[in-house]
Amino acid sequence: MKNLQYNSPDKNGFYGEFGGAFIPEMLYPNIKNLEENYLEIIESDEFREEYLQLLKDYVGRPTPLYFAKRLSEKYKANIYLKREDLCHTGAHKINNTVGQILLAKKLGKKRIIAETGAGQHGVATATVCALMNLDCIIYMGEIDMKRQAPNVARMRMLGAKIKPALSGSKTLKDATNEAIRDWINNPEDTYYLIGSVVGPHPYPDLVAKLQAIISQEVQEQLYEKTQKRNPDYVIACVGGGSNAAGIYYEFLNQPEVKIIAVEAAGKGIDTGQSAATSKLGTLGIIHGSKTLLMQTKDGQITEPYSISAGLDYPGIGPMHAHLLTSKRARFMSVTDDEAMSAGLLLSKTEGIIPAIESAHAFAVLEHLNFKKSDVVVINLSGRGDKDLESYINHFNL
Ligand SMILES: *Cc1c(COP(=O)(O)O)cnc(C)c1O
Repeated sequence: MKNLQYNSPDKNGFYGEFGGAFIPEMLYPNIKNLEENYLEIIESDEFREEYLQLLKDYVGRPTPLYFAKRLSEKYKANIYLKREDLCHTGAHKINNTVGQILLAKKLGKKRIIAETGAGQHGVATATVCALMNLDCIIYMGEIDMKRQAPNVARMRMLGAKIKPALSGSKTLKDATNEAIRDWINNPEDTYYLIGSVVGPHPYPDLVAKLQAIISQEVQEQLYEKTQKRNPDYVIACVGGGSNAAGIYYEFLNQPEVKIIAVEAAGKGIDTGQSAATSKLGTLGIIHGSKTLLMQTKDGQITEPYSISAGLDYPGIGPMHAHLLTSKRARFMSVTDDEAMSAGLLLSKTEGIIPAIESAHAFAVLEHLNFKKSDVVVINLSGRGDKDLESYINHFNL
């Protein structure tokens, strides 16, 4: 492998041919301000100290690296789970929002905007805005607001204002358009808080570096348990790709570590009801970034589908598009049914009910051939409480 810089973009914000900042001219000053300052701020001692303190006392880090004994016996390998499900608010998303809210404050911003699809990023954003006493405006498609009513209620309890996106399909991409419009109109005091490794440069790199804490902890914890810093396999589900970027980060430039990315095949790749961008995506621009996305021949974004709301995204971040085309990562896809069964299996064998997103990562254990000595780390990105109704309906519980 020649290119050993898989985890950071070049100076123009590209991972191979993917990435960059394809944005309306009105946003240049905002993006430029962020680009010129983000690295210096997030790498400063002052920032690191505040960020790590909040991750410890507020988020509950380090999250455990748990040796799953019964799962290991079943699949004949040494399987470890990175327990992001134990983070405050129930998933990895809070690692990123804690970091970006500190960055927003250092940039002197007073007002936070974000878009959300399923509501999970909206909740993580509203949470840190409450913590920091900053105004919080969340854009959400009108249809998503109906589908995800409990998360709308959570955000309101946390003090956020929810603005419905009423145009187009009234889902995530329409909410994104509204958020960008807001940012154009309020360039001075407003910070746009993006929830995954997507969007214009420098967001994918910023979010990856804030989630990298996951793999940094894994290295230390694995060393403590096995005297090895590198596992043989790292497995994560990919929606936009932030939990995956976080657990891959320190391992991407270590060629001996096998990287597995798991996407949602929904009802099946060829059914028209899927979110498997690595199989169905083509080159295009989404959310200000050049990457792979699911689109029609004339460039209309296709509505994705997955039983899991967090994987229901029509693209993948530019880092992941590059990992795919450079073959650094192996992409696999898992249907709704396979993911639900894997979620039930994890519940019964380890006493852990996973988010349906995370259950996708476990479903590929059925299809990988391990050696008995292999060390496998799976990112358990979130807990399943939010998905109880889907589990009930699927299994007639
Ligand atoms: C949002 C979410 C995902 C998908 O987002 P990524 O940016 O791909 O990580 C995965 N798992 C859980 C639990 C989520 O909440």
